[in-house]
Amino acid sequence: MDAQEILKALEARLARLAQDGAGFLNVPPDPAAAALVESARRAAAPTAPAAGQPRPYRSSPAAEAGFSLLGPEEHGAQGHPSQCDSLEALHRAFAGCTRCGLAGSRTNFVFGVGRARPKLLFVGEGPGHDEDLQGLPFVGRAGQLLTLGIQALGLAREDVYIGNVVKCRPPNNRNPEPAEVAACLPILNRQMELLDPALIVVLGNVPLKALKPTARGITSERGRVFEFLRWRALPTYHPAYLLRNPNALDEWWADMRQAFRMAYGADP
Ligand code: URA
Repeated sequence: MDAQEILKALEARLARLAQDGAGFLNVPPDPAAAALVESARRAAAPTAPAAGQPRPYRSSPAAEAGFSLLGPEEHGAQGHPSQCDSLEALHRAFAGCTRCGLAGSRTNFVFGVGRARPKLLFVGEGPGHDEDLQGLPFVGRAGQLLTLGIQALGLAREDVYIGNVVKCRPPNNRNPEPAEVAACLPILNRQMELLDPALIVVLGNVPLKALKPTARGITSERGRVFEFLRWRALPTYHPAYLLRNPNALDEWWADMRQAFRMAYGADP
């Protein structure tokens, strides 16, 4: 089976699941995608460093919990993420980030996209080839599957927020190195603080280990809620894993439904 056939089979399977209670399933071309790409590009345009004194470092709950591994003086020209008071400011401040080696090979810094104050925040591992080119998360094959799952819940991509642990594509889609994850995590954490989601859906091993270093692995941890700082987090399979292992789709769908119930307090 090639990729398109796998996706078709998954679509058909999701459609069957939808008939069994998943509600509405529809996969139209995303009308808001072009606008989202444009606004992400605009936000990612390099900006001149702020004139005058750097703003004072303000602590955040995450920094107090020891989540940020770098001190304010080590954040260089971008400052510390906790100094950014909005998602747009955070995106602008870090769009030209050079805090790890991934900066050298990226086409786009892939910040994340979605609604403010979402019920659901999906966190993947890092941009792949398509995401790097478009500057948006989860727009390739795995992204199509994630989008299908979101739509099968009766939601649109614009109803949730989608981001990643690292914002720049690791070469050849390798897993990000621990130092790359550590360099990028403070940005994700500031996104969490600004978004304040009802639930974080953790997609696969890389974000799971980033948020819960003691986790055993996604196969044993999926569906088991854990606390991350002040948020609840629900791990499940990464959609790319499902493309290789369609048999895991039923478990993934059970997790997606659990995520919806936890975030919205109702069945999808
Ligand atoms: N895989 C991820 O983890 N994130 C993306 O944005 C795309 C693929």
